[in-house]
Amino acid sequence: MRLEGKTILVTAAGQGIGRASALKCAAEGARVIATDINQETLAGLGNQAKGVETRRLDVTKPEEIAALAADLPPLDGLFNCVGYVHNGTILGLDDAAWAFCVDVNVTSMVRMCRAFLPGMLERAAATGTASIVNMSSMCSSIKGFVNRAAYGTTKAAVIGLSKSIAIDFVGKGLRCNALCPGTVDTPSLRGRIAAAPDPEQAEKDFIARQPIGRLATTDDIAPMVVYLLSDDSRFVTGQAVSVDGGVTI
Ligand code: NAD
Repeated sequence: MRLEGKTILVTAAGQGIGRASALKCAAEGARVIATDINQETLAGLGNQAKGVETRRLDVTKPEEIAALAADLPPLDGLFNCVGYVHNGTILGLDDAAWAFCVDVNVTSMVRMCRAFLPGMLERAAATGTASIVNMSSMCSSIKGFVNRAAYGTTKAAVIGLSKSIAIDFVGKGLRCNALCPGTVDTPSLRGRIAAAPDPEQAEKDFIARQPIGRLATTDDIAPMVVYLLSDDSRFVTGQAVSVDGGVTI
């Protein structure tokens, strides 16, 4: 098992990619701390797989992050999965919506990394390795998408953050990478499809973005999370890793 002996924290683990990744990490032998703001979706996750513990965490609340970091043992792996998709161009982006996107998509990851890094560096000193994975997107890393001004900008910042952490701690055994998925079939994507003026066409358009001819499932993405958190990726740091169904071909 590739994550045996590792303690890994996942944010936004209640549903979608975070949930699938938490389960996959546990299946690979990790002790997983699965966190989310939504206690209802977290409920049951702990019973689904041996090795998963659930903790409520709102990543926009610094005091909750500090309390959790003080309560947990040092981590070997951190998957900052949380993210929010704002719909619109820069012309419809008011300051409040912009601030919310920055807070959820970027500042949360800055705070999480800052809070858990000291413990992760301890683990890296003891074991030779520790790994952070920050969720970005093919939106920004690869190309711009219509009506994703705040989303694309904040996901680009996640790549910058990941490269900065990677270079600052590369000599200490700590690796940090950004993950850039294509379009993944998750509850929030289903919500965006349902909210479109023509949902059937919207689904076709989302599928058409991937040359591979379908949406990704969360199980298409979770193995890359496991890889980046495991020692198999010990020579991989500072990368924006695409899992995009051929968008970059
Ligand atoms: P989702 O949007 O379906 O679920 C998001 C989860 O985040 C929910 O469980 C929600 O309760 C939780 N959450 C929201 N605000 C929170 C907060 N303040 N604190 C803690 N948890 C909070 O999940 P998804 O579609 O799998 O997306 C997960 C990540 O992947 C996001 O960062 C997203 O931007 C990124 N991503 C998604 C896709 C896609 O097509 N779905 C593509 C590329 C990147």
